[in-house]
Amino acid sequence: MTNLIKQAAVDLVKGKYAIALTGAGISTESGIPDFRGPSGVWTRDPEAERRAYRVYAQFQEDPKRYWIDRLTIPSLLGNLDQYAPNPGHLALAEMEKMGILKWVITQNVDGLHQKAGSRRVLDYHGNAFKLRCVSCGSRFESGDFDLKKIMGEDRLPPLCSGCGGVLKSDVVHFHEPIPSDVAEQSLEEASRCDVALICGTSAVVYPFARLPQVAKQRPPGSKSVIIEINAEPTPLTERGISDYLLQGKTGEMLPKILEEVKGLKGIKK
Ligand code: NAD
Repeated sequence: MTNLIKQAAVDLVKGKYAIALTGAGISTESGIPDFRGPSGVWTRDPEAERRAYRVYAQFQEDPKRYWIDRLTIPSLLGNLDQYAPNPGHLALAEMEKMGILKWVITQNVDGLHQKAGSRRVLDYHGNAFKLRCVSCGSRFESGDFDLKKIMGEDRLPPLCSGCGGVLKSDVVHFHEPIPSDVAEQSLEEASRCDVALICGTSAVVYPFARLPQVAKQRPPGSKSVIIEINAEPTPLTERGISDYLLQGKTGEMLPKILEEVKGLKGIKK
């Protein structure tokens, strides 16, 4: 394992344009459960998964009901305000500050990369702390809305101050298209990168799972390195999309890689 940690650091330092692709696994060490890991939300409660697949249709049919449910039924991931970034998030934020990492593209909705100090973050599946207008695509901080008050005054769903369209949570539900701005930029970054650090994802949710494949395909004469850090092997490992797997916890592996990177760059520990 030590050799692979060193290899990852060498690949990151040699690379010209590294990105990280993260999933729920990077946040489990902050206390937020994943969906498909051994103690994931879906693994423990398959009915919750079936319910999640119906949420977007419910929003389309009855946005008021959707909002009442969101404001009265506890979230599967708990109150996301209470969680703090872990050493995995912090290591990625530091790699960005060092100029090594250009973007983090995350499936997570928890905002922990931003809390850790990462500035270039693409929230592929949205952000639980934001609302998005389904008509014009504008995003708003959810803290700017007193949603409980709006519910008490029977004014749900909240409306966009720009165009008057209906607002939903920015979180992308199953069967909902990825917002085009984020989808396009993520595809661009994946096509451009020469190193992709895949962290804590089962890599089975599409279209996100296409991004490592896009990162792998390079024009003739150029090569990219796909580094996977996961608790267990995934389809990326099995299909040879990743060049190598560092099997273990992102909260342990990423800080070790960062230390090696600092050593290679001659930065004092
Ligand atoms: P997933 O639940 O499908 O898979 C998580 C993977 O990470 C599993 O393979 C698991 O073995 C691995 N893992 C768990 N802890 C790890 C650790 N400490 N270090 C390394 N690997 C670890 O998650 P996914 O692939 O991100 O996709 C699920 C969907 O669920 C995504 O759309 C995401 O938006 C959503 N989700 C988000 C959060 C969040 O925002 N924190 C939490 C749960 C689910």
